[in-house]
Amino acid sequence: MTAMKMRLLHEILPRVERPSRYLGGELNTVHKSAEAVDLRICLFFPDLYELGLGNLGLQILYAALNRLDWVWAERCYSPAPDMEALLRQHNLPLFLYESKDPLSAADLIGFSLQSELTYTNVLNALDLAGIPLRADARDDTHPLVCAGGPAAFNPEPMAPFMDFFVIGDGEDAVLEIAAALRPVRHAPRLEKLKAVAAIEGVYVPAFYPMETLADGSIVPPVDGPKIRKRIVADLDAAPFPENYIVPFTQLVHDGAALEVLRGCTHGCRFCHAGMVTRPVRERSLERIDAMIQRTLENTGLENISLVSLSTCDYSRSRRLVRMAAERAHRVNASVALPSLRLDSFSVELADMIAGVRRSGLTFAPEAATPRLRAVINKFIADKDLIAMACEAYRRGWEHVKTYFMIGLPTETDEDVRAIADLCKRTLEAGRRVSRRAAIRT
Ligand code: SF4
Repeated sequence: MTAMKMRLLHEILPRVERPSRYLGGELNTVHKSAEAVDLRICLFFPDLYELGLGNLGLQILYAALNRLDWVWAERCYSPAPDMEALLRQHNLPLFLYESKDPLSAADLIGFSLQSELTYTNVLNALDLAGIPLRADARDDTHPLVCAGGPAAFNPEPMAPFMDFFVIGDGEDAVLEIAAALRPVRHAPRLEKLKAVAAIEGVYVPAFYPMETLADGSIVPPVDGPKIRKRIVADLDAAPFPENYIVPFTQLVHDGAALEVLRGCTHGCRFCHAGMVTRPVRERSLERIDAMIQRTLENTGLENISLVSLSTCDYSRSRRLVRMAAERAHRVNASVALPSLRLDSFSVELADMIAGVRRSGLTFAPEAATPRLRAVINKFIADKDLIAMACEAYRRGWEHVKTYFMIGLPTETDEDVRAIADLCKRTLEAGRRVSRRAAIRT
């Protein structure tokens, strides 16, 4: 056991609020010998463990990379304030969860940028790891630092701090990056950057010097190769974690997430995810069935979520939901559909997986007037929304939860007042179906 591991286990973890966040030996984690591999990669989720462990993207990359016997992919999450204070107080660096080695022992640190809100966590993590924040301040002794994920589609705010970005789907790109870095592991930094820059979807900011205008705006160079986002064309052939990591502690979203579909056809005007994940691609029923079976067998988890941006749009969604429910119920597990479309068909699908206790169904009309819904490309009539809620009450749900956005472009006071009016009309109609009907907004 290394001296650092000893200190973490004996001096630090007994004093933090939730040691289970940092132990790192969860079921299905991968432990290799650092001396036996050619490349060490840290997959970093810049938020708390409870939010990060269930992140599907990170689980996919962890499984895909660790299938290679010459790569060891380890994890790290942002420490909670109590842990950070103790690390700083004891002058200990942030560490890789599996080996408990310092983060700087990795050849590459990859941050998953889920939103702009985590940018400061990324900088804090680099600081805690003793790695210079700015890419141009790092030398050959430091790991390469990269980022991917939804917020990497607008890379410039983080460009001074990243050696490179991966734009688009990561599961194929990350394998190509590992293969490109393997032969240049001990080469100068510039050679490593040249090796990864040749990969489709990789953006190395140092190779694209921006011109800053007098008003502070930046202009990209007109020449130089264009960066095209990576698209995994065949989801069936793409790697997927069948050995889902099972946490020691409760997460924000418990259970395993199984991706059935990528992309969304609806094109809601405000929706970043819908735009950047195009085109729509489906996994086959056969592949999903095998994934469900192996995930339940390999994890013992009691809940699986059929995730996508809009699972109700899966082309054979009735069969999918019935199949998932049958598989799950055999081992007393349950199935969840986290995103429901705004129609009665969605209520029917939810009905197929619901248990006896039906507390609430959630929908997101986003705007309460037909005019504002048309502005954001949510084309649904008030009467259809009310009919959908009544269908839920009729099938035994006691309350319907609705999400609305405030502050959409062109919004007027009338649009805001209409939220209360629409909810009131929905409730009045619902009470004619069930006297227990309730609505939450
Ligand atoms: S349906 Fe949902 S995921 Fe699809 S574009 Fe609209 S908000 Fe985005």
